[in-house]
Amino acid sequence: MLIVQKYGGTSVGDAGRIKNVARRVVNKYREGHQMMVVVSAMGDTTDDLIKLAREITNNPSPREMDMLMSTGEQVSIALLAIAIKSLGPDVVSLTGPQAGIKTESIHSRARITDIDNSRLIAELEAGKIIVVAGFQGLCDSGDITTLGRGGSDTTAVALAAAVKADMCEIYTDVDGVYTTDPRVVPDARKLDSITYDEMLELAHLGAAVLHPRAVECAKIYNIPLHVRCSFNDNPGTIVKEECDMEKNLIVTGVTCNKNVAKLGIFGVPDQPGVAYMVFKMLADRNISVDMIVQSSMRDGVNDISFTVSQDELRKSLETIEEIIKVVGATGYTHNAHVAMVSVVGAGMNGNPGVAAMTFGALADEEINIDMISTSDIKISCIIKNGEAEKAMNVLHRRFALAEATNCNCCA
Ligand code: ASP
Ligand code: MG
Repeated sequence: MLIVQKYGGTSVGDAGRIKNVARRVVNKYREGHQMMVVVSAMGDTTDDLIKLAREITNNPSPREMDMLMSTGEQVSIALLAIAIKSLGPDVVSLTGPQAGIKTESIHSRARITDIDNSRLIAELEAGKIIVVAGFQGLCDSGDITTLGRGGSDTTAVALAAAVKADMCEIYTDVDGVYTTDPRVVPDARKLDSITYDEMLELAHLGAAVLHPRAVECAKIYNIPLHVRCSFNDNPGTIVKEECDMEKNLIVTGVTCNKNVAKLGIFGVPDQPGVAYMVFKMLADRNISVDMIVQSSMRDGVNDISFTVSQDELRKSLETIEEIIKVVGATGYTHNAHVAMVSVVGAGMNGNPGVAAMTFGALADEEINIDMISTSDIKISCIIKNGEAEKAMNVLHRRFALAEATNCNCCA
């Protein structure tokens, strides 16, 4: 088999852990598999590099930031290749550009546009283990780019697609994907499998175990992902198109995102083109808006509320001041002390009652719901920040997520 493995920053956090990864890779290689390994920067290296640049200036050039940040992964590939070689096998480390990874010409969050796999195939055919630096590529102008924080997952999946790997294993410091955050809900359960769509929602809604773009890429190229722990041999979670046993689960997971802030604009004139104006002005400033709720019209005006990430609150408030003048609204409010809790599950599509069950669980704990948004496979509620943990626990209990059998057929 041709196996792509990805090890995150914690898994290669020090020399001992790098040797541990080398042993795991070499064991698989000796079983007769072709091996390609993607690694992140060691521990908090990327954060430390960013801090260092900020000590010099608040406004570093994006090109040089990518040059700087890409060095973290370069340290990891060299050390891992050294560790693998010391165990015997032939190995070669490659930076993203050397591995043929081409990206858009955007710094700090480039998307992969193409992978020239000729070098990769040649090295694999020569019997070598390949170690590739995650999170980086080369743009048309010949400059190094990075893929956005957490981007090494995406590198691994894209490489797996480019060499038609049989399997893509994502190694991390937890045993797999859980029904919710085990630090908040002690009886959170590890899922044996989950669909791409569910994983995508969970990843977007705050589950940090997989990067959303990696999941998107895996779905497009239909590459099953195996999320597992680099410190033990426990089976992890398989992410794929369909989940056999758990297909009938109504709800698969509960997430919470505290990096949200809520904004409301009052007295927005009820005329065509006004919502366009509001959200165009936000988009023009690169502010990404998540939930949007518009109240029904009264006396010719509406209220429009929406959420943004907390990092963009300041920019959003400045923009709102302008919006109010342009559209002739009467005022605005904001609240950063909110959290978004969500329940996710492919089985809720066509299952009436999930929304009622969600709201009922929150009501029983006297948790007030500020905003609601839904899709086919998720229900998200904005609540008070301080009630997030209580909400996660009650929802996890209400949907019996600690048990593996909370499905339609057994309910
Ligand atoms: N080292 C990069 C980061 O910390 C990429 C990654 O870990 O996937 O964001
Ligand atoms: Mg990292």
